[in-house]
Amino acid sequence: MTVQDATFDVVNPATGEVFAQAPRCSREALDEAFERARDAQLSWREDEQRRRESLARAADLLAAAADEIAPTVTAEQGRPRHHAPLEATFASRWLRYFAELELEPEVIQDDDDARVEIVRRPHGVVAAITPWNFPLVLACWKLGPALRAGNSVVLKPSPFTPLSTLKMVEVMNEALPPGVLQAVTGTDELGGWMTSHPIPRKISFTGSVATGSKVALAAAADFKRVTLELGGNDAAIVLDDGDPAEVAAGIFQAAFLNTGQVCSAIKRVYVPESLHAPVVDALSELARAAVVGDPLQPDTELGPLTTRLQYERVKGLVADALGAGGKATVGGAPLDGPGYFFAPTIVTGVAEGVGLVDEEQFGPALPVMSYRTVDEAVARANDTRFGLGGSVWSADPERGAEVASRLECGTSWVNTHLAIGPSQPFAGSKSSGLGVENGPWGLKSYTDISVLYRSK
Ligand code: NAD
Repeated sequence: MTVQDATFDVVNPATGEVFAQAPRCSREALDEAFERARDAQLSWREDEQRRRESLARAADLLAAAADEIAPTVTAEQGRPRHHAPLEATFASRWLRYFAELELEPEVIQDDDDARVEIVRRPHGVVAAITPWNFPLVLACWKLGPALRAGNSVVLKPSPFTPLSTLKMVEVMNEALPPGVLQAVTGTDELGGWMTSHPIPRKISFTGSVATGSKVALAAAADFKRVTLELGGNDAAIVLDDGDPAEVAAGIFQAAFLNTGQVCSAIKRVYVPESLHAPVVDALSELARAAVVGDPLQPDTELGPLTTRLQYERVKGLVADALGAGGKATVGGAPLDGPGYFFAPTIVTGVAEGVGLVDEEQFGPALPVMSYRTVDEAVARANDTRFGLGGSVWSADPERGAEVASRLECGTSWVNTHLAIGPSQPFAGSKSSGLGVENGPWGLKSYTDISVLYRSK
């Protein structure tokens, strides 16, 4: 275990109070962690079968610990208690997928002249840096492929959600050799130390566009490999044959899941003029009915925003939208009482040029706009620096797919949104990221490609 000598506060977002302390990793302790990771990787990279078995066992242990870790997820992230076990359960699915993934040998020539094979070599030590919205799931998107490929990993969770990651790593380490997987916790400064450290050869980062840009700059100094999974501003386009109630149910779910704190949540909606009023009414009804509050209560559907900063940001974006002529058909303000609670909000009467539409709100406030032609809706959906996901909603899936294929983003869904799985590549276009996670594509991104050419 890394020596971490000081601590920092961890806040419960449902109360706004400090409820625990997390270890603060010093620069020296980080050096030690990277050195240990470098040493441990030398034998870890040698035996793929052992790696697959260890990872499968880690997946089992993590799944079995889901209930034990859940209260910590609720306390630091704000996830309703009855949803919280899913964090470790889903995370374990990613570990299992990468333990079981079969990779075909890549032989690109085998004839009288030569046999030419592609060999995949692990990078060495990976520095993994994660955000606070899905602390365990997003970590396992990295741990599964990085470890399977033969790298060792030093993982830094967000300072807002350090404790569930520490617990997860402790559980996984029962199945892994010492030093192969370590967690270090600290404030943002620690992330900067990691990205400029000489030992890691790859940085796998999930977080905001602004921080992603700093990570890319730091990595450029010695050409560390990078995977950047960044922010999004996913558009949903409803076509004129959509059923308002059905469409609203799907959109609401994908916009307000985890209190809207999902990189690829629906963050703006385009509806034809003829359907705008019924879709807004149906969405507003769902927002009004959603139970928001104490995550420990069994009927709570939406918890608080996870950080004060995020709460202030959502408050500011909504106030700005209302000041610019927007109308909240429901919600529009924080809820009374302690904690970072914001009422589920539907905003009409806004358009591009307003922060709530142009920026990533990452919270429970959704702008719903009207359009005249499908071409106009597609152009407006694409007129953004983001390119994570998008969806099209139609009674005719073929028509939906034709429009969805015109969206400039990593994943385009038809009649759903946020359908994500370990075998499906997840990548952001434009400023939403660099590289890809998940599937064989994600696994290969934790390796250097090299050619083994045998002359005959
Ligand atoms: P953030 O960028 O503030 O922080 C992410 C991580 O980076 C944290 O661990 C933080 O401590 C660390 N960090 C901060 N400064 C750093 C630096 N200079 N160098 C290295 N690391 C540093 O993001 P956040 O607020 O924790 O998360 C929310 C953002 O993450 C949203 O924009 C969201 O869309 C994005 N996100 C993207 C995906 C995806 O897969 N594309 C998934 C979830 C969240």
